[in-house]
Amino acid sequence: MELNAMKEAIDRLTENQNLSALKSQQLINELIQELEQASSKLLTSERDSIRTILEDLKVKFNQVSPLSHLQDNQKELNLAFSNYTELLGNSFNPDISIANRNVETNYQAVNQLIVSHFYRQGMFELGDFFLNESSSSSSSETELIRSLFMEIHRILESLSNLEFEPALSWIVANRDVLRQNESTDLEFKLHRLQFVVILQNQNGIEESFEYAREFVTQFSADHKVEVKRLMSCLWWAGRMEKSPYSDLLSSSNFENFADELMREYCKVIGKSEKCPLITTVTAGVTNLPILLRLTNLLIGEGEGEGKKEDLETMIDLAGRVKPDKDLMFHLIFECSLCCGKGNRLNPPIWMPCGHVLCMVSVVRLWRNTGGEDDRPLKCPYCVSVSKLRNCKQLSFR
Ligand SMILES: [Zn+2]
Ligand SMILES: [Zn+2]
Repeated sequence: MELNAMKEAIDRLTENQNLSALKSQQLINELIQELEQASSKLLTSERDSIRTILEDLKVKFNQVSPLSHLQDNQKELNLAFSNYTELLGNSFNPDISIANRNVETNYQAVNQLIVSHFYRQGMFELGDFFLNESSSSSSSETELIRSLFMEIHRILESLSNLEFEPALSWIVANRDVLRQNESTDLEFKLHRLQFVVILQNQNGIEESFEYAREFVTQFSADHKVEVKRLMSCLWWAGRMEKSPYSDLLSSSNFENFADELMREYCKVIGKSEKCPLITTVTAGVTNLPILLRLTNLLIGEGEGEGKKEDLETMIDLAGRVKPDKDLMFHLIFECSLCCGKGNRLNPPIWMPCGHVLCMVSVVRLWRNTGGEDDRPLKCPYCVSVSKLRNCKQLSFR
């Protein structure tokens, strides 16, 4: 939204209004002055000259012509107001349909997207209510999303009540997948949070020492410095806020952990980390004003008369219709042979025949034919024969 233009317009309008008020006030003051002069003359004059004084006053009033001046002021002000109203209308109530491609809207899909958004936010009753109101049938996918997000919200709620067990159970149950996703820190971070909470208890030192021995020391190899810091906290039990480790008490540690857990949970269940509805709306809101200006130029309306300027503006606008990296959806590769999802450790591999499989599947095929350097690699789909060295790793950007 062109808020700067709006601000300039409202500044101009305020200036016009002030000027108009000033002119009217000056006019009124002038008339008052004339009236006062005439009034004092009347008090001191002879009866015969009253008529002359009043006639003089009438002439002066006619000369000043207050009514026409006030009407002119008002006309100028009305014009400024109508320009502003027009600008408001163009800026805040544009005809967005002109930037809309004529595609059939799948209302069922839009409704499902909204329902999924509510579930993702933990607003399950609202999601159910919306589903009911929109007369959309609850698909198995919607039910699955509901139960999946219900689980993570249950875990997060427990965590906010300092119950760590549900989060830990989930992390332990998904240890292998989390390792594959290169998110191995979660388990340690959860134990660190719990260690600090235990340390605040009355018998904090003994309890947290036991806890550390059972759950924290196993992470010493990968988190040497952090484990040392936790152990040093034992010396500061009861006065940690004054210690060099006071950062461990910050409530933001819980918030950051909850965010990270949600992110990793979404990865594990195969859902995008950010809500698709929010991403789509943000991308639309960011780019719609540019698209509208571009479309107006293309259909020959709006600003710019000269063709060259129009073209330059269009090129400039087209270059600006680029969503931020955060707002872009990325393709996720799914191997058609083993149905596994591609990741950094198991990327998609392009074979010279054009078929793409995950690395694990390609290596497995290659091993099945002997696994020697120059052995042929047979594509399971088109039975083409190629060499492993001619395969290429693909990356989706
Ligand atoms: Zn595969
Ligand atoms: Zn093939």
